[in-house]
Amino acid sequence: MRIVLMGPPGAGKGTQAKRLAETFGMVHLSSGDILRAERSSGSEPGRKMKSYMDAGELVPDEIVVAIMAEAISAQPAEKGLILDGFPRTVPQAEALDVQLSALARPLDAVLVIDAPDELLVERVAGRWSCPQCGRVYHSRYLAPVRAGHCDTCGAELIQRPDDAEAVVRERLDAYHRQTAPVIEYYRSRRPIIQADGSAGPDEVTRLVTEALAARGAAWQGKHGRGD
Ligand code: ADP
Ligand code: ADP
Repeated sequence: MRIVLMGPPGAGKGTQAKRLAETFGMVHLSSGDILRAERSSGSEPGRKMKSYMDAGELVPDEIVVAIMAEAISAQPAEKGLILDGFPRTVPQAEALDVQLSALARPLDAVLVIDAPDELLVERVAGRWSCPQCGRVYHSRYLAPVRAGHCDTCGAELIQRPDDAEAVVRERLDAYHRQTAPVIEYYRSRRPIIQADGSAGPDEVTRLVTEALAARGAAWQGKHGRGD
């Protein structure tokens, strides 16, 4: 199964994607994590994206599309895929369609996790991330077992500079202006599963797992295999 996971910053995309990847044995590709790694590498595209990311704006389509196309084609065809945070504009969605149809690996569904803006700001303000494995925590809602350290790899947790409130408001604005239209783009093309991200993390996992299991079962029935 191949899915696109969409939603505003703080909706719980990364949290749910990691859980779904484990449950369904899919590869999780987070555009934010991939772009941050490119940025730290000091490469030419990495240097170009810095000012956009710091300001909470979207990185230009041509840079993101090239980096994500490479990451997608590096995955084995038989593995399922969760694209978390990509596409975020209609031109990105069009470029993804072109690539996936050339690879004969079409998308099965688009999963949208949403929540009200004020809740998102609070979530992002309390977000702590592991710089090593990308796992995310929340100081109140999803605290690590040992304060300040990742449960999975033990690394010291950090707060992302672009999670400061003023930048988050810019990112929410970018989501409403540039990314929400991508849902409309998919509406006539792919099944859309909408989940309420304002519930607790386990309840959201239950909702999306059930919805995807139903879709995956239908898909397996149609194609006779589980990827
Ligand atoms: P969140 O998980 O809070 O939604 P991300 O980690 O996905 O945030 O993204 C962080 C930043 O990386 C964005 O504000 C944007 O600058 C950049 N970015 C990530 N994905 C994309 C994309 N598909 N297109 C353009 N910019 C992106
Ligand atoms: P996104 O990838 O959509 O930006 P994250 O998965 O990084 O969102 O979650 C944002 C913050 O909210 C993190 O601190 C995470 O631990 C926390 N979080 C995620 N899902 C929930 C939830 N359902 N309820 C409360 N907090 C959550």
